[in-house]
Amino acid sequence: MKNIAVVGTGYVGLVTGVCLADLGHHVICIDVDEEKVSQMRKGHSPIYEPQLEDLMKKNIEEGRLTFTTNHAWGIRNMDVIFLAVGTPQQQDGSADLSYVQRAVNDIAQHINRDVVVVNKSTVPVGTNESIQQYFNQHVGELGQVDVVSNPEFLREGSAVYDMFHGDRIIIGADNEDAALLVEELYRRLKLPVVKTDIRSAEMIKYASNAFLATKISFINEISSICEKVGANIEDVAYGMGKDRRIGTQFLQAGIGYGGSCFPKDTNALVQIAGNVEHKFDLLESVIHVNNRQQLLLVKKAKERLGSLHGKRVAMLGLAFKPNTDDIREAASVVVANELIQEGAYVTAYDPIAMTNAAKVLNIEFANSVVEALQEADVALIITEWDEFKQLPLNTYSEHMRVPIVFDGRNCYTLEAVQEAYLEYHSIGRPVVG
Ligand code: NAD
Repeated sequence: MKNIAVVGTGYVGLVTGVCLADLGHHVICIDVDEEKVSQMRKGHSPIYEPQLEDLMKKNIEEGRLTFTTNHAWGIRNMDVIFLAVGTPQQQDGSADLSYVQRAVNDIAQHINRDVVVVNKSTVPVGTNESIQQYFNQHVGELGQVDVVSNPEFLREGSAVYDMFHGDRIIIGADNEDAALLVEELYRRLKLPVVKTDIRSAEMIKYASNAFLATKISFINEISSICEKVGANIEDVAYGMGKDRRIGTQFLQAGIGYGGSCFPKDTNALVQIAGNVEHKFDLLESVIHVNNRQQLLLVKKAKERLGSLHGKRVAMLGLAFKPNTDDIREAASVVVANELIQEGAYVTAYDPIAMTNAAKVLNIEFANSVVEALQEADVALIITEWDEFKQLPLNTYSEHMRVPIVFDGRNCYTLEAVQEAYLEYHSIGRPVVG
């Protein structure tokens, strides 16, 4: 079992650290955010992620998991250092590598022995080679550093499950011993391992996210056509998905993808391609379709009501998907701001993500679905939380001024809606009521 440091304890770093500890390694998680670290020391997860807090507490109690803000203490004498800091989007769409650069600098200052640095952050092709060069120049005689690219594929909302049951582990390395060491860390997971050179590993991450985003934009385009030609997207997607070459996943039509990965990674890949003079037309269209799709409910509501000025709009859901508190690049943010622009009064409810949303949105927040729906002229479903899917459909007519619902996630069957007193607009299906 190895001594491991994890630098950056966000969604990826914390989940990685906790799961590696659970596999038996000794893990120190390092973060610059003192508030986060003090919460984590007490066994509180700063993010909402099913199973995470229990697993954290267990591994803290069993003495395999600690937290610190002190890079020197965390990095000295480690066998392996994981890097999992953010790589957000810059104004021009490219990845902001300043957190990675700072973390690499922090690590370089304290290395005192041979060590493998495993990068989990999503970074443009070539970045890990630059990191390797930086270590070569700055660590000197104190130890040999080998950089390995090990991109992460977890999904927020099921991150712990995904860590233990992922489809594959990608290990990109130029040094076979370093690759073997990383493979060994994960051996108990018994997951398929794909070993590549560093640049291919970096590209696998971007290409995977871009491909999934393409599937989503594709089915959303088909859903818009379905609405116009009188077809039903649910049946179409089911029929398509039965073809194993296509598969059923990522064929759910809706108001587009969001979150901290797809939007920024698709934009970054367009930039990466542009840097080598390749215009990535397909991916640019995927992004364009998604931006349009995120505004679809507001457009439809405006067409239906004439104007949204002075209208009370209930927004159900803020998180970019269910089972997470993350609202980074969520459709909800675009939708809420557009509604405000149109002069609507917006009241939103989300089971988990309201605290994060309150930091960026100037709207009313309700304590329950019913409170959000009270006297509303229209309701927009933004996130497919189970709480909304399981809501008795008469709740809308009992509490809204007029029960008009625009469902951006196709939460209800048309049969169920037909039996309710409701005007129901969904994605790629006929209007009911
Ligand atoms: P995040 O923003 O949630 O967390 C980053 C953490 O790093 C923060 O807690 C921050 O305080 C800390 N940090 C920043 N600089 C630091 C430093 N110098 N030393 C120590 N800590 C530092 O980010 P995230 O969502 O976990 O994403 C991390 C990376 O993983 C990104 O490149 C992202 O694209 C990639 N990724 C994310 C997901 C996901 O679902 N969130 C999935 C796969 C890959």
